[in-house]
Amino acid sequence: MKKSLQMTLKSQSDRYILRGIEMLIAKDRKLKSDFLIYLGEADYRKLYAKEGYSSLFRWLTEKYELSESSALKRIQVSRLALKFPFLYRDIASGKYTLSALGRLAPFVNGANAPILFGGAEKKSVRQVEEFLVTQFPKEDVEDRLRKSVSPLGVDRHQVQFTAGNEFISDLEEARALLSHKLPKGKLAEILGLGLKYLLKELKKPVRKAPSKREMPLAVEAANRILTGSRYIPRGIRRQLDNRDDRRCQEKRPDGSICGETRFLEIDHVQPFALGGANKPENLRLLCWTHNALRAEATFGKWRASKPRMTPE
Ligand SMILES: [Zn+2]
Repeated sequence: MKKSLQMTLKSQSDRYILRGIEMLIAKDRKLKSDFLIYLGEADYRKLYAKEGYSSLFRWLTEKYELSESSALKRIQVSRLALKFPFLYRDIASGKYTLSALGRLAPFVNGANAPILFGGAEKKSVRQVEEFLVTQFPKEDVEDRLRKSVSPLGVDRHQVQFTAGNEFISDLEEARALLSHKLPKGKLAEILGLGLKYLLKELKKPVRKAPSKREMPLAVEAANRILTGSRYIPRGIRRQLDNRDDRRCQEKRPDGSICGETRFLEIDHVQPFALGGANKPENLRLLCWTHNALRAEATFGKWRASKPRMTPE
């Protein structure tokens, strides 16, 4: 019977073990560097979108179950290395760790790259953070490096951000006006209440009868519907919101859907430009990524501007 690695090592010298550790560390660095090269190519090919995910981040965390921080770090460094390809070599040689580069990534641009990469060589994460504070205002560094929302437990989260004077004076005014309703005046309670009001306002259906002055516009809209324009009436939009549960309907190979709730757009199943109708049967909600993927499949061009799809 073949001896297990664990048993084999028992009979080896210290020197053998040390050399083994060194070899594995070098292998691990090379693997990390290779992974970034693959990830860069997958990103470029939009493989996550083709597999039914709205972002590279969701693909890595949901399909491959990488932790959020690990996925975020790899995406940041992969995108940084696309601009500065010498990083593949420097990660493999151990000049930079992924974590150190992940800290650096939000700050690097073409002008400051030599200084920032120079300052982060062979540095730990903590040392990179200290170095960044010597280069940028402390608040900026804290703002960009700390996650604004981090879980503390099953139903508790820590939320942090930097605010200006106006926010603080608005907060104090709200706290004073709410002193009867919320006597403890806790920040989370005040902001929570504010969000409830905001959501109510945002979800309100905007449907006012057209005034005489606006009539020509309303008539024009009606004409556009009748003559086959791309305009989709609000009633149909609401119908789609309900039917599709305000989620991207792109199908994954396993039959589930993408389900993204942000940056939703209305997609014509049979493209509008190819005679597809503005009827609910021919419409569905897709996230920005999947609407762009559809457009690319039909018209051969990935749209240039893209919303941010990684979490804050
Ligand atoms: Zn989607």
